[in-house]
Formats: sequence, structure tokens, C-alpha cells
Amino acid sequence: MQSGEQFSRSGSRVDPWRGHYAARAAGMVASEVRALFAVASRPEIVSLAGGMPNVSALPMDAIGALMAELVAERGPVALQYGSAQGDPGLRETICRVMAAEGIDGHPDDVVVTVGSQQALDLVTRVFVDPGDTVVTEAPTYVTAIGVFAAYQANIVHVAMDEAGVVPEALAETFARLEREGRPAKLFYTVPTFQNPAGVTLSAERRPRVVEVCRRAGVLLVEDNPYGLLHLDGDEPMRALRADAPDDVIYLGSFSKTLAPGLRVGWALAPAAVREKLVLAAESAMLSHSVFNQLAVDRYLRTQPWPEQMKDFRAMYRERRGVMLDALEKYMPPGVAWTRPAGGFFVWVTLPEGLDSKAMLPRAVQSRVAYVPGTGFYADGGGRQAMRLSYCYPPPERIRDGVRLLADVIGAELRM
Ligand code: PMP
Repeated sequence: MQSGEQFSRSGSRVDPWRGHYAARAAGMVASEVRALFAVASRPEIVSLAGGMPNVSALPMDAIGALMAELVAERGPVALQYGSAQGDPGLRETICRVMAAEGIDGHPDDVVVTVGSQQALDLVTRVFVDPGDTVVTEAPTYVTAIGVFAAYQANIVHVAMDEAGVVPEALAETFARLEREGRPAKLFYTVPTFQNPAGVTLSAERRPRVVEVCRRAGVLLVEDNPYGLLHLDGDEPMRALRADAPDDVIYLGSFSKTLAPGLRVGWALAPAAVREKLVLAAESAMLSHSVFNQLAVDRYLRTQPWPEQMKDFRAMYRERRGVMLDALEKYMPPGVAWTRPAGGFFVWVTLPEGLDSKAMLPRAVQSRVAYVPGTGFYADGGGRQAMRLSYCYPPPERIRDGVRLLADVIGAELRM
């Protein structure tokens, strides 16, 4: 049996179902990141591309023991169907986790999801009709673009600087869209340690952004998988949701703070919205993996997770330092980059005239990979930029990778 490119038994490469797809399937295209993974995962290549957390730092023996206990003690529950809203005990634990960011959430308003990616899908399914406008930062999370495109949204970007989205630009964008007869429905933002730009919305701008959305009647979706990975200072940022419970849908995840393979995330939503999300979740998947939810809950209740988070932060802090030092040391003049206060990502802007996408094959040949900036824009922007991640490779590989990349950029400049 062959699969992949070959679509039919006769060996034709023409998809026999091509006339049958729903219009929305046209918006479903492989992300640049996915296409890269196959290449970047070759061992000889230093990948500064993927945003994978370093799960090998987890206590594997303790996780194995905990899963065995779970089966022994609660097997019939853990292996049964569960509710579409998620396990009540886990929802309480999630509220305790969110309290660190100033959120006073009620477990009834939490909907557990298959990673925060599913939460984003459910929110979009519930709010966005084809042609509806979703406003996002520029650049923005690549797979959020994927979700919005799959629901045939009209994606509009708004400018960001080193202090996050610019409230005045957001207000102007909303006003312009209103005038053009295509008002914004959602504002999707990753305000803290943004993927991909590594910038954080300043404390001063936070209430202004919430107010701009409130005035325009636009629902704010705060996607915050990196909030507890603050690398400067002891306290996490206060979430937008903390001061605007009626205006914000907050999306959270255990993917970066525990393990993405467990696929446990959540949405915290105003009560009426939460009801819709539960119905949408029910039709999408009936029930979550109860086993994974109970495993996460047990882990957080029994393991020294806050201490582990300190260790994770120390590990990522070291890696960030290595990347920023190497950028400073090796990059040719004219290259600029962000200095993230947390999370996994640095956004690099190349000198005028360079094209990160065109340069990628030459970088891979030189054994280093990154994600070209274009993947993070819905409008073709980002050619002069790239995302680098410091989360996964060990420090010495990060240093080597940045040096190799600097050489590739240097060679491009001389071309
Ligand atoms: N939002 C952002 C900004 C992300 O970076 C990611 C993961 N890369 C997700 C959502 C989805 O994460 P998960 O589904 O694993 O919770």
C-alpha cells in the first residue's frame, strides 16, 4: 500500500474528490511550521524553529507512578466517557492556577478543551460566520490564522510595538472596519510573551486595550499559554481577564507548563458564552480524555509543581540568555531582535532587502532552521522577519545555531 502523494489505485495524482470539498476546506492549508518540522527534525540541523517545551525535564518516573495509581484507584472513572465541560476537580485546580495571574474565576465558567488550540477552534466556531472580521496582532500565532482561515474569517492585522498592541491603532482599526461595513467581531491577542514576537503588552496599555474593545463592542480573546513562564521577576503579569470578566474569553493550557502530549487546555468564559462552548465541544468530540484530565489534576495536586515551574523558568532563562548573547555577538549590523521577558520566542528583523523565506533553504543547507515571518501574517507581510525559539535545543546548540544563522545572513548581505 502506498499513501501520501498517490491519491487513487490507478496512481493518478488528481484528487478524485476535489470538486466535493466544502468551501471552507480551501482555507485549510499546511502551516509553514508544519512543513518545516520534517526538515528541521533531522539531527544534524540546529532547529530554532519549533516551539516545543523541553519535556525531558519532567519527572518521568513520578508521572508513570501517578498514572498507574490513577488506573488502580479510579480506573472505571478514568476510562469512561466524561462530560463535555470537563472534570469538575480539574476545573477547580485550573481556577487555582489562574489565580496567580489575578483571575478570580469560577469552576462553572471553565470549559476544558483538547489543548488551548481546541478552545480557539470552539470560540471561532461559536462566533465567526464566513466573512466575519477577526482582528489580530501583526504578527500573530500561526495556527490561530489557520483556525480563522478555516472558518473563512476576514483576518485584519493591527500594529504592535515592543510594548504590545498599540491601543490607538486598535481603536482606529475598529473604527475603519465599522465605516467599511465589516465591523470586527473578535480581537484575538496573545498579550503576554507573544508567539511569535516575544513581546508583552505593557501594564499601562492593558486597561486601555480592554476599554477600546469594550467601547467598540468587540469580544476580546486572550490566549495565554506562556503567562507562567515569566523569566524576569518573580510574579506573572496580571491577565487582561483579571479586570474584565464580562468582556474577555481567556484561553489557557498545560502544554508549556506541563506536557503538550496530554492535550489539556481550557477556556474561561462569561456564563452565556461558556454554555455555547460546551455545546460546541459536545458536538466536536462528545467528551475529553477523562484519563488525561485526571492525570493532570492529580499531578498538580500531588507533585511539587510550583517548584518545578521555578526550575523550568531557570532553564528557559538560561537558554534565552544564551540566545540573546549569541545574537549580540554574531549578528551583522542591521539585524534587530526583540528581548522577551518570558515565553519561548525571539523575533528577528533582517536588514532591508533580505527575504527570510527565500533564505531558508540556504540556512538549512548550513544546518540551521527558523520559521520565516510570513507564516505569522495573513496578508503576506513578514518577509523581512523570522521567529527563533530558545525553548528546545540545549544552550550550546542555541549558540551554534545563532552563529550559523549569522553567517548565512552575512553571506546574503554580500550577495
Ligand atoms: N496559542 C498559542 C499562542 C500557542 O503558542 C500555542 C502552542 N504553540 C497554542 C495556542 C496551542 O497550544 P495547545 O493546544 O498545545 O494548548
